[in-house]
Amino acid sequence: MESCIFCKIIDKEKPSDIIYENDEVIVIKDANPKTPVHLLIIPKKHIPSVNHIEVKDKALMGNLILTAKKIAKEKNLKGYKLLINVGREGGQIIDHIHLHLFGGRPIEIP
Ligand code: AMP
Ligand code: ZN
Repeated sequence: MESCIFCKIIDKEKPSDIIYENDEVIVIKDANPKTPVHLLIIPKKHIPSVNHIEVKDKALMGNLILTAKKIAKEKNLKGYKLLINVGREGGQIIDHIHLHLFGGRPIEIP
């Protein structure tokens, strides 16, 4: 996806603060952190949103959560919050699915 900012980050065409990477997933620091730890867990496959997930993406979506668990453990987070925004009304700004990991202090989400 030429115009997708996260695809550009995945392809290293755009700089980012990469925390972890494997064949399927990349984890970066959010550029505008809302909590002391605010990471984005992003599949390398361009899926625009939860509304575009297909049955064949089941394992990939599970891997996003397993990656969150792994990173949280490495960072010794006592607790954390995982969030996926879906659609503009759901607060999604970037149309490449991503899991937010918030930690370091409690965060209120309505
Ligand atoms: P969402 O509202 O769920 O689509 O979240 C998009 C997130 O991406 C926001 O928290 C932004 O701060 C973050 N963001 C936007 N551009 C970048 C970037 N180039 N590198 C890292 N994070 C970004
Ligand atoms: Zn993309």
